[in-house]
Amino acid sequence: MSPRLEVDLTRFRANIDTIRARVAPAELMLVVKDDAYGHGIPALVPSAVAAGVRWIGAFDVETAAAVRAAAEDADLRIFVWMLPTAADVSRAIALDLDLGIGDRALLEDVAQVARVAGVPVRVHLKIDTGLHRNGFRPEEWDAALHRARELEQDGILAVTGVWSHISEASDADDDEARVAYEDALARARAAGLRPAWRHLAASSASSARPDFRYDLVRVGAFAYGVAPAGGPTAEILGVQPIGRLVARVVRTTATRVIVDAGSLHGLPSALAGRARVGGSTGTHRLVSVGLFTSEIEAADLSVGDEVTVYGDGRDGSLGATGLAEQIGTIGEEIVTRLSPRVPRVYLP
Ligand SMILES: *Cc1c(COP(=O)(O)O)cnc(C)c1O
Repeated sequence: MSPRLEVDLTRFRANIDTIRARVAPAELMLVVKDDAYGHGIPALVPSAVAAGVRWIGAFDVETAAAVRAAAEDADLRIFVWMLPTAADVSRAIALDLDLGIGDRALLEDVAQVARVAGVPVRVHLKIDTGLHRNGFRPEEWDAALHRARELEQDGILAVTGVWSHISEASDADDDEARVAYEDALARARAAGLRPAWRHLAASSASSARPDFRYDLVRVGAFAYGVAPAGGPTAEILGVQPIGRLVARVVRTTATRVIVDAGSLHGLPSALAGRARVGGSTGTHRLVSVGLFTSEIEAADLSVGDEVTVYGDGRDGSLGATGLAEQIGTIGEEIVTRLSPRVPRVYLP
């Protein structure tokens, strides 16, 4: 007994089309960390490639390897920015990845492996524009640029990108970050570097703020139809949720029914008493969340009937973002914590 996640690949491709059209001439880098936000890399990557995606943001090397395997022969650029060990660096270079680099020790590690590999490794230097989640600090930037330029002239590295990550929590903070980013770009130019790929924005800024798009935007949430909590809905954003978590009624009592989805499948227990699910006969209050099952208030559902725990809202269910808002978190948290053991069923 387990719920299933239905993933609508037609909608996924439509979301990608919408985002690509919106951000053009900038390119879309589809971010697929956490197994494509819980939807499944093996099915989603080929679908994204078919929709024209040429850049994938993979977070770490393990994810990148899964992307390479799923993409088969597609000529994909895969960007990773989490390289904690020397083994990660070697594997990343063997996989021909684009490497995000935000500290000097990593730059030297990469240079060392690249020197042996004999082909210039593509690196994207990260400037810290205020989030303090790694990245070269502004006072370290010129020295990093100088060293990277030296390694580029020696044929060891190719500085392909300059990037940063911003909070997208307030326009004022993002504006400040963009000023810092512009300064970093100007200094890179002055150091003789000509990065072809400048990237700063994730879902929200890439959608709402044209000035933040540069050459490439790194989009995860919106591609899966996950809207920001407290912000515009997916509908307003022109995308649709691609995942629908479906549970089945396994037992009934006089006023409640038991469905086969619980906290071990990834449903936050905090949703009890706060959320509602959708069904063919309307919406139902979620009363409690157990380990394997949950109780909902419903007198008119029978064993075998299905309810939507989260979906596109058309059957009265809340979306992942709607559920998240009930418990003070974000939609990504709901979709990425879905257990890998919950079967993913793909609708072509
Ligand atoms: C997760 C992530 C993204 C994508 O963010 P969304 O808001 O889901 O689009 C982009 N860049 C980096 C560095 C990330 O970690």
